[in-house]
Amino acid sequence: LLDALCDQAAVAIERISLMQDIDKARVVSETEQLRTALLTSISHDFRTPLASIIGSVSSLRSLWQKFPDATREELLRTAQEEAERLNRFIGNILDMTRLEAGALAPVAQPTDIAEVADTALNQAKPILAQHRIRTDIPEDLPLLTLDATLTGQILVNLLDNAAKYAPPGSEITLDIKRQAQSIDVVVRDEGPGIPAGDLKRIFDRFFRVSGVDRRRAGTGLGLAICRGFAEAMGGSITAGNRTDRSGAIFTLSLPLSLQVQS
Ligand code: ADP
Repeated sequence: LLDALCDQAAVAIERISLMQDIDKARVVSETEQLRTALLTSISHDFRTPLASIIGSVSSLRSLWQKFPDATREELLRTAQEEAERLNRFIGNILDMTRLEAGALAPVAQPTDIAEVADTALNQAKPILAQHRIRTDIPEDLPLLTLDATLTGQILVNLLDNAAKYAPPGSEITLDIKRQAQSIDVVVRDEGPGIPAGDLKRIFDRFFRVSGVDRRRAGTGLGLAICRGFAEAMGGSITAGNRTDRSGAIFTLSLPLSLQVQS
């Protein structure tokens, strides 16, 4: 009997180590995948803005005297915008790497979510200049234990996407709703929305809806970072489409278990 048990145990151990090997292989291949995706993305997304910066700056240098003020201004603006785009991209990659490495430690403090939303709206003002903004933020919301910086970054990202994908002149709303179990921050737009089949993948790293206007600069990392930040704080984030009209809805849900006990 003992021999039989030993044999069974040996088989079980072998299976477990086999499973661990498969697991290890899976992790390695996920890392590999990320690395490949990162390299492809870097080669595409870094090159375009860099080419544009180099082009603007070198024509400014060689033709400075000949250019009228307006042209100089235009070339400088292009160089600045493209440099900022590169900077955002690098920031996204750093945030993503931090998340992947588990090196993100949220600084959780009693936070007024209405204040965070206000700050995010202010910060996103230049991006939202071509849209109408409507907000519905109730008073007397309870304080939640959150990292205000990460929460703000999620909201700016959602507002940035809304402005990026919804046409100028359309309305973007940011509402805060008190639910039975959570406080939800809801960002809605009047853009094309997200194809139903892509809703599940929208938070995957580097995923961009196919056919999306490629002039809309993006890395496909923003929403993956939003989800990573939300989950690191004990919240969640979901995407959907409006039923009343065309447009996307993103909901950042912060459970009331995060409520500061007074
Ligand atoms: P990025 O905007 O840099 O491509 P994100 O991770 O923020 O990356 O978004 C992933 C994809 O989800 C986008 O490429 C776009 O196809 C889609 N998407 C995100 N927000 C919206 C929105 N408000 N309306 C329509 N599509 C959106």
